[in-house]
Amino acid sequence: MINKLISQILPHMPPQLVWMFSKQYIAGETVEQAIEKSKKLNDINVMTTIDVLGEFITKLEEAEANKREYINVIEKAEAAGVKGNYSLKPTFLGLLLDKEVCYQHIREIVQKASAYDNFIRIDMEDSPCTDMSIDLLRRLKEEFPENVGLVLQACLKRTLADIKALAVLNSPEVPLNLRLCKGVYDELPAIAYKEYETINQHYLEDLEYMLQQKMYPAIATHDKPLVDGALKLLEKYNVAKDRYEFQMLYGVTPRLRASLVDAGHPLRVYVPFGEKWFGYSTRRLQENPAMAGVIIKALFKK
Ligand code: FAD
Repeated sequence: MINKLISQILPHMPPQLVWMFSKQYIAGETVEQAIEKSKKLNDINVMTTIDVLGEFITKLEEAEANKREYINVIEKAEAAGVKGNYSLKPTFLGLLLDKEVCYQHIREIVQKASAYDNFIRIDMEDSPCTDMSIDLLRRLKEEFPENVGLVLQACLKRTLADIKALAVLNSPEVPLNLRLCKGVYDELPAIAYKEYETINQHYLEDLEYMLQQKMYPAIATHDKPLVDGALKLLEKYNVAKDRYEFQMLYGVTPRLRASLVDAGHPLRVYVPFGEKWFGYSTRRLQENPAMAGVIIKALFKK
């Protein structure tokens, strides 16, 4: 309920005030700022995945410009020696407007990353995108087996079945690289688990299946009980350090992040940047348990 309240309030707040809360989650508005923040993370033994902010475009021409922006980001980050890869949202490249055009754009981006022996993560958006995003992965894996991976969401009831179906893309030489997260979109109870405990239970079940299949999981969560559950599974299956990684979002739970890094676990931070920060940061503010009170207080002070 508080979450809904925050999403209703934020669009009516002065943009400077929203930015004050949002900036903790965003690396900046320019690629140079994203590179600078990424290098600082690299200095503390944290890898990155850079994301250009923006989603659900409404004109196909924007997809072309967004693709060029990604190519530019890859060239600049590689030239700067950033230790990291890249994440993208298919609807930023036109998924809901023209699937084929979207595929061609993402293909070019993956091709560019592969020229640097690097990797593109396809983020998972809301449920109308799930099948299409899985199709993108299947097609791209044929041409670039080592350079592309996907995200799956433990809150969706279909996810374990999706992981099982994708196991055909997994092999000992090139383990299938899937980021597992809880899922941030508000889905209907018919297709999604809604309770914290149930989502966590399915998260660990999905992760355990991935480890049994010797896939490469990117364990994306800031939830301490889940991190602990994941650590137990990594130990149970004796998973080597180059066969998994933890992932967290920029600006979220830095202490939990540091504890994993200090214990020697590979960890990557999602580094979003760009001018279109509003949608992304609204989702982050909704997830911050300390934020509701602060935002409401700020609103009444103005
Ligand atoms: P939660 O139960 O939400 O949070 C656990 C605890 O973490 C909270 O109690 C709090 O202490 C802390 N915390 C969490 N969020 C915040 C915050 N914003 N500010 C302060 N503290 C916080 N979702 C998708 O649907 N598709 C994607 O492609 C996707 N990619 C992701 C990539 C990465 C690297 C990560 C880490 C998350 C991604 N997500 C994605 C978001 C994910 O689905 C969750 O919405 C988000 O991670 C919060 O879930 P949680 O596992 O941290 O657990």
